[in-house]
Amino acid sequence: MRADALVLALFALTACASAPEPAPRWSIVVHGGAGVIERANLSPELEAEYRAAMRQALSIGGDILDGGGSALDAVEATVVYLEDHPLFNAGRGAVFSAEGRNELDASIMDGRSRAAGAVAGVTQIRNPILAARAVMEQSPHVMLVGEGAEAFARTQDLQEAPPAWFFTERRWRQLEGYMLRNGLPVPPRPPGAPLAPQAYRDAAPDDHQFGTVGVVAYDVRGDIAAGTSTGGTTGKRWGRVGDAPIIGAGTYAQNGVCGVSATGTGEFFIRVGVARDICARMQLRGEGAQQAADAVIADVGATLNAAGVAGDGGVIVLDGRGRHAFAMNTPGMYRAYLDEGGAPQVFIFADEDPPHGHH
Ligand code: ASP
Repeated sequence: MRADALVLALFALTACASAPEPAPRWSIVVHGGAGVIERANLSPELEAEYRAAMRQALSIGGDILDGGGSALDAVEATVVYLEDHPLFNAGRGAVFSAEGRNELDASIMDGRSRAAGAVAGVTQIRNPILAARAVMEQSPHVMLVGEGAEAFARTQDLQEAPPAWFFTERRWRQLEGYMLRNGLPVPPRPPGAPLAPQAYRDAAPDDHQFGTVGVVAYDVRGDIAAGTSTGGTTGKRWGRVGDAPIIGAGTYAQNGVCGVSATGTGEFFIRVGVARDICARMQLRGEGAQQAADAVIADVGATLNAAGVAGDGGVIVLDGRGRHAFAMNTPGMYRAYLDEGGAPQVFIFADEDPPHGHH
């Protein structure tokens, strides 16, 4: 390269690095879970379905934000759509516990006041994110679990759903595989579930513990909200709860600082305190969303369990001005963003969207 070309290239590089990132008037970022999602094991049809669902999720939240609606309403409506969508491990389509049940966890946080609400281990609430919001707004508490949470939801007239509503053959097959691999008994199919089909071809990747959904939104008033919803991990036992309903682990929102929703091996995300740690880095160290997210996901990847296994997963983040970042240490994460006036952007594989954020 000639010297003057080199100087020009260097100039372009520094100019790009130091140019202030434009802040959108509103924005939304969505995930649909992280994990071993690779081109080789995702059929073109299924990939197209995931991309369409992510685009639809963006347009539901984006329409609310574009009409001047609140970040909280955008998060809620987008999560409801993804909970009702059978492809994702949240609400309908959730993974099964070892007992053959769908035990659902969700949380939501309002960045204005840092009010928050969560439910864990619920089995009969059609949309756990609505229950989480009701806990935040209609109860003096932040987190309700199990039967108590169901009883509270009934006082709020939230729609109930029978086990058959949440059932999908794909998740059931994933449970069977998990139980057999681990030498555990396969439980009976849930009441009301359809009979096992004769021929079943699973075109899905073996993403048995992934598919959690999360949304972070930034509205025209500059308010941030975040929400996360999941069925947890396949074959979970003993009332296991992951990071998704834990404020500061799976979800966090604080106006002027950040919004985060996480997905991955919850046991590690809880121990690292992922969502709050990202926000704390941004708030106290002045790190950008990408830098903070990368550092905390690296920490998750370096944190081992007793068996010497590291955590994996990813996060979606908005900074205090609504600019997004993604980070993951998995081969893929269903993720998407939309800024006011921009085109919807959807990504699946880790190498599709190299980090380019706001350091
Ligand atoms: N984080 C969720 C949990 O541990 C699972 C996931 O995101 O895939 O329950």
